[in-house]
Amino acid sequence: MRVLSLALGLATSLWLPLNSAVAEGASLDLTTRLALFQSAFPEAILGHAANVLVMRDGTEITIDDGQVKSHAEALKGADIEDMLSQIYPLGRCYTGAPPAKNFDPGRIRNDAFFKSLYGADARAVSADMEPVGWFNTSVAFSRRHGAAAALARVARDLSSPTQDEAKFLNTLGGTFNWRVISGTKRLSAHSFGVAIDVNPKHSTYWRWSGGTPGNVPSYQNKVPHSIVEAFERHGFIWGGKWYHYDTMHFEYRPDLIAIGRQAEALGCVD
Ligand SMILES: [Zn+2]
Repeated sequence: MRVLSLALGLATSLWLPLNSAVAEGASLDLTTRLALFQSAFPEAILGHAANVLVMRDGTEITIDDGQVKSHAEALKGADIEDMLSQIYPLGRCYTGAPPAKNFDPGRIRNDAFFKSLYGADARAVSADMEPVGWFNTSVAFSRRHGAAAALARVARDLSSPTQDEAKFLNTLGGTFNWRVISGTKRLSAHSFGVAIDVNPKHSTYWRWSGGTPGNVPSYQNKVPHSIVEAFERHGFIWGGKWYHYDTMHFEYRPDLIAIGRQAEALGCVD
């Protein structure tokens, strides 16, 4: 426990000077990423000691297993370091160009971490869901760690949509669904009640284009950037910034948004 409190103290002291003292162009090393990651989930993460992330519910997760992984291997068996390895591009760091091969920031997830955050099975996740008003309907979202409150803020920001925005927002693809990702054994973010799909009819998805894992031929998107920015403002990432694109998909990831904002402040480091 003493080691843990030392690590916690270190993380806190790293967090404080970030905005003021870190020079433009400095890299965002793992220690800095961990401090930002931890600060996004203060009620869930107790701290880290040596190479282990310690959750308040007692879950312990390896931070870096030391293995060199291909992208496919990282998706299948992610540690925390893998999960934070790609920086989600925000603001001036996002050009709108098709993402580079296998650049999927946020798609690499550690299941144990998400189970600790939102519930280990469908019943546990469901127990902490609440309805969030969404135009003329409501959707179920996890209330844990500020997710449902953040979605409510997105709905407020988009409450007077243009005609082009409205067609993506009036009909949804869904939110909570305990399921594996198509073609894999990995749990989808929808399993944890923290993802929302806008209208699939107007969206594009890498598998629908005939892509295969690691080989996606043609990036396409029709989702207006104003919708993307409204979600990002409140802690959500967008699947349209992935090489394996999923343009209907938005997912509550305040950790990756915090790291992305810091990267932008430092001059778009990676
Ligand atoms: Zn989705």
